[in-house]
Amino acid sequence: MTDLVRRFWLRCEETEPLFSADEIRWTPPEQFDLLRGHGLLREAARATWAVCDACGEGHAEEVVWISRGAPGSLTPFIPCPAVGGVPIEPERLRRWAADLDLTALKLRETLGLIGGLSLLFPGRVWSLGRRHLAGRFRDFFLVCGAAREDAHAIWERCRHIVDAPSPVILVPARSPQQKPWPAFRLADITAITEGGLTLDMDYIADAVPRDSYAMPAKTVASFPVGDDARWEDLRITIGEGSIFAELRNEQREFSLDDLQFTGSDDRLWQLLRAFGRFGGETPARSTSVSGKDAATFRKQVSDLRQRLTTVFPIAGEPIRAVHGKGAYRCLFQIGLDRRDGFPVRPERWEDCQLLELRDGRIQISVKSKEVFAARSRDEESQRLTAIDAGERETVRSEEYDLRILGLATEAGIPTAEGAVLLEFLRSGGKIYRRGDDKDVLRFRQRLRAWMGMDSDPLQFIPNRRLWTAKFECATVRRQAEPE
Ligand SMILES: [Zn+2]
Repeated sequence: MTDLVRRFWLRCEETEPLFSADEIRWTPPEQFDLLRGHGLLREAARATWAVCDACGEGHAEEVVWISRGAPGSLTPFIPCPAVGGVPIEPERLRRWAADLDLTALKLRETLGLIGGLSLLFPGRVWSLGRRHLAGRFRDFFLVCGAAREDAHAIWERCRHIVDAPSPVILVPARSPQQKPWPAFRLADITAITEGGLTLDMDYIADAVPRDSYAMPAKTVASFPVGDDARWEDLRITIGEGSIFAELRNEQREFSLDDLQFTGSDDRLWQLLRAFGRFGGETPARSTSVSGKDAATFRKQVSDLRQRLTTVFPIAGEPIRAVHGKGAYRCLFQIGLDRRDGFPVRPERWEDCQLLELRDGRIQISVKSKEVFAARSRDEESQRLTAIDAGERETVRSEEYDLRILGLATEAGIPTAEGAVLLEFLRSGGKIYRRGDDKDVLRFRQRLRAWMGMDSDPLQFIPNRRLWTAKFECATVRRQAEPE
């Protein structure tokens, strides 16, 4: 293994994170320069032991410095039973240590953390600071040697970690044996380049537990309803970052915050938007697949029901399962705010991109032209005057869970049509199937319905049995990672 950066992280786990000159000699010099350049490796005290390279036995001996020649100049020797006194190149005694304090500091900068950086356990544990990520504030810690035998001492000594409501543990290369908290290996999620240390924040955001659904609902804003109000009387219009609710004579706009959605990537918000897009009912599941259900999607629907009932204290259930179809239907009326210009109907399939995200959701992006007016402020009257209008290209995106699209079971297993979609995305838009393949034909029909397009999103070349997608297909799915 000559990858010095990887070895650097592994070495950070050890009691003495040091590299000898003999080791460094066999590693790529550019990686050594990189680590030295960033200060992550710094020169340490010279070695007091050296391995004999005179006799072939490979024995290690204590170095003695002997005066030889010019007064005051000392030369290192080691004793060898076979050869006698063996002089050692002073260069071979140089050592480089991983600077863990500086590593902690750089991680803090890269992560954009706030709050104090503090050393909780010298050489082992640093409290790096905190930031908002995936729905809540999280405290970040760097823990070295979390897999060592004495690791229990870390958890006993560092109450900060135990007491933190949502700790995120960063380890150089080895995760703790028992994992009470999410732990991330820096060797896997960081890169060290000329520019510095970079870190895959999305990966952390995707992997930390998203417990925001379970947040106490008592601070959710609510809407005044009469005793006899029914869900059917309520109309919800979904905007870009808010909803507009109307019930009889009452109207009110709610921001994402009012509704306790954590942001545009909040799963419950995305579910509500999907209901808006599909006019209140999610598409039926394409093929029913039996098997044990993980029921996580059902749980999301149930959480959304609960949130809606808190905001709109109306009797009965706002969302019902559609029997036998694997779909859900809202009892209230729901739609998208067309003023927001969404969903954008693409003019051509070529203006669409379907992207498989790392967590398995599908992002649908549409390019379109948007008319805008450039305005200037009149110097004298201070009034805004339209001076110019133009067109510019915009891209709007929405993200969907495969289950919401009716393309996966409750447990998240893609149906046959879902598999067609994934095959297109993972193969850059080309798949080999028969021209009368039922799943491809059904998928094509479903895609047209989603996007409100009459034209064909797919092309078929009979003599090659090749289906090609007119829209752009992409994936950023990670290869399965060893854990
Ligand atoms: Zn020897």
